[in-house]
Amino acid sequence: MIDRNIKELFPILNRTIYGKRLVYFDNGATTQKPKQVIDRIVQSYEQENSNVHRGVHYLSELSTEAHENARKRVAEFIGGEQEEIIFTRGTTESINLVARSYIEGFCKAGDEILFSAMEHHSNMVPWQMAAERCGLTFKAIPVKDDGTLDIDAYKKLLSDKTRLVAVTHTSNVLGTVNPIKEIAAIAHEAGAKILVDAAQAIAHTKVNVKELGVDFLAFSGHKMYAPTGIGVLWGKKELLEAMPPFMGGGEMIDHVTLEHTTYGALPYKFEAGTPNYVGSAALASAIDFMDSIGIENIHAHEEMLLKYATEKLNQIERVHIIGNAPEKSGIISFIVDGAHHYDIGLMLDKMGIAVRTGHHCAEPIMTRFGISGTVRISFAVYNTTEEIDIFIEALKKILNLLR
Ligand code: PMP
Repeated sequence: MIDRNIKELFPILNRTIYGKRLVYFDNGATTQKPKQVIDRIVQSYEQENSNVHRGVHYLSELSTEAHENARKRVAEFIGGEQEEIIFTRGTTESINLVARSYIEGFCKAGDEILFSAMEHHSNMVPWQMAAERCGLTFKAIPVKDDGTLDIDAYKKLLSDKTRLVAVTHTSNVLGTVNPIKEIAAIAHEAGAKILVDAAQAIAHTKVNVKELGVDFLAFSGHKMYAPTGIGVLWGKKELLEAMPPFMGGGEMIDHVTLEHTTYGALPYKFEAGTPNYVGSAALASAIDFMDSIGIENIHAHEEMLLKYATEKLNQIERVHIIGNAPEKSGIISFIVDGAHHYDIGLMLDKMGIAVRTGHHCAEPIMTRFGISGTVRISFAVYNTTEEIDIFIEALKKILNLLR
C-alpha cells in the first residue's frame, strides 16, 4: 500500500494550475521530484561542490565519493557491477554510445540490426544512422493489433547476419511490457547481442540485468524521480572492455602524448569530460526514495491505477484505447471519435490536468495503427484513483463540447 500522504513529499504536486490542484498524468515524459532529491542537489552545491577525480583537496574527495557511491548504488539497483555503469545524459545518449562504439567498432557492411516497430525514436534513429554510416541493414519487428510484439515474426527476421536486437522493455505509447527474457534468449541463440531501452520500466518494475539476460541496458534519471541530464548505460563488462571509446577528452585517458593516446579503464573510458556529479548524487537519492517504498509496492499501486483507469475509459463510448496487451505498465494511450487529441489535451490542461498528446516520439507505431497521435496518460507512485475520477469527469465534459 502506498501512503496517501506521499504527495506531500513532492513540492510541485501541491501547486495549483489555473486555480485547480495539479493532476499530473505525464509521468512517461518525466516524473516529478521528491523533496529529498531536490535537497540532495542543494546539498551538493552548498556543501560539496568540486570537480571529481583529479582533486587532492577535501571537497574534491567528497564529491568524488558521492559520485562513485552513486555508481555503486545504481549497480546494486539493477544487479550489475560498478565498473559496468556508464553515466550519460540519459537514455538517448546511452543508445547513441552503443550505436557509435559497438556497431561502428565491430560490425561490417552486410550485417543487420533489428529493432521493434514500437520503439521510441531514440531506439531507432541511432541504429538507422549507424547502419547508413557502416553499410548495415536494419529491420523492424512487427507489432500485433493488441500491441504485443510478434515473436514469431521476430524469430524469422533473425539470421546469422543479425548483430544486435534493440527493443524497449516497456512501450512509451502502448504501455506494452515486452517479454525481455525470452527475446534476449532468442537473440543469443542466433548469436546476436541485445540492447534494452528501460526508460519506461526502471521506475515501475524490477529491472535486473542478470535476470533479464541482456547485454546493454539504457535509462534516464529524470523518469525515475531524479533530475534531468543524468542517465545510465549498463553493458556487460567484456563487451564494454572491447568497445572503442565514444568521445575523446579528459577523464577517459590512460596516457597522452602528442602522437598517441591510450585509454583509461572502465567505466571512465566512456566518460570523457567533467561528469554530472551533482546529477549522479541526486540519482542515488532517487533510488533511495524508490527503495524506501519498494519497487514491488510501486508496481502494484500503478497496476491498480492502470486497471481502474482502463475500466473507466472503456465505459466511454467514443474512447478507443490503443494497446491492449495482457502485460501492460501504467501507460494508456487513447483516441476519441470526432475529437482531436491536441484539443483534448489543451482543454484538460485548462482543468489542471497534465497529459501528453501527439506521436510521443514514436511515429512508426502511429503509422502502424493508422493514427496521427493519441492522448496519453501515464502514472507514477503519487497518483491516485481520485485523480483518475477527476480526469474522467473532465474528459466527459470535454467530449460533450467536442461533438
Ligand atoms: N525511450 C523511451 C521508451 C522513452 O519513453 C524515452 C523518453 N520519452 C526515451 C527513450 C528517451 O529518453 P531521454 O529523452 O531521457 O533520453
